[in-house]
Amino acid sequence: MLLSKNTINFSNYRNIVVLTGAGVSVASGLPPYRGPGGLWNNINPDDHADLAVLENNPGAVWELSGIERKTLENAKPNVAHIALAEFESKLFSSQQFTLITQNIDGLHQQAGSQNVIEIHGNLHRTKCSNTDCSLEPYIDHLSYKETVPQCPLCGSILRPDIVLFGEYLPVKEEWLSKRALRDCDLFIAIGTSGTVSPASQFVRSADYSGARTILINLEPMKPKNPYFQEEYLGLAEEIVPILFGNNDGN
Ligand SMILES: [Zn+2]
Repeated sequence: MLLSKNTINFSNYRNIVVLTGAGVSVASGLPPYRGPGGLWNNINPDDHADLAVLENNPGAVWELSGIERKTLENAKPNVAHIALAEFESKLFSSQQFTLITQNIDGLHQQAGSQNVIEIHGNLHRTKCSNTDCSLEPYIDHLSYKETVPQCPLCGSILRPDIVLFGEYLPVKEEWLSKRALRDCDLFIAIGTSGTVSPASQFVRSADYSGARTILINLEPMKPKNPYFQEEYLGLAEEIVPILFGNNDGN
C-alpha cells in the first residue's frame, strides 16, 4: 500500500497507541537486533542477554551492555523520534496517546515524548539483581569492563535494568500497556517485525478492541500476521515524519 500524509486522519481517533521497535533507532546509529547488520548476527544472545547468564556469568551480560552503553553515548534522536514527540505535543486534550517502546535506548524521552512505556527497560539504568532489595534503579552510564558491580545495600550483583531473554515483562509496564491497548482505536507498530512477541500479542489486543491496526517496517511480515490490517514498507525515518507530521491539532 502507498502511504501519504493523508493516510491517517488522526482527529478521528481518541486513543492512539504506537509501539516502536529497533527499526526506529537505526537512523540514530543503533544496530537492529535481527536482519541485515543486526546485533545478533555477531553476538549470541544466549551467551550475553539471557537470565541464566546473569545468574552464572553476569560479566557476560555487562560485556554486551557495556558495548551498547558505549554505542549510545553518541546516539541522538532522529527525525522519527522527533516527529512522534511533536505529534504528541499537538494532540487535542480529548485525545490519549501512548508510546510503548521495546527500545532500551531512551531516545523517545530525549526527543521529548511524554507518555512512554518502556516494556524492555532502559539501558541507562542499573538495578540490584535481588528483587527483595530496596535499592532503587538509578541512572548509570558506566560500562563495567573489569568487574561486576555489587549492590551497596545487600551485596548482590548489580545488573542493567533491561529485560533479558527468559524474563517476564515488568509488571507495571505490562499492565499500563494492556490498559492502553484495551481502550485504543488506532494502533501503529513501527520498526518491529510484527510477528514476534510482544508486537504480535499487542496487535491482537488492539484488534480485539476494534482498533485500526497498522504496521510500518522495512521488511514485510513473514509469516503475515492477520491482525495487522494495513502494512507499509520503508524506513521509519522516512515514513514516520510523513505520517505523523500532518497532525496540526485541527
Ligand atoms: Zn541490593
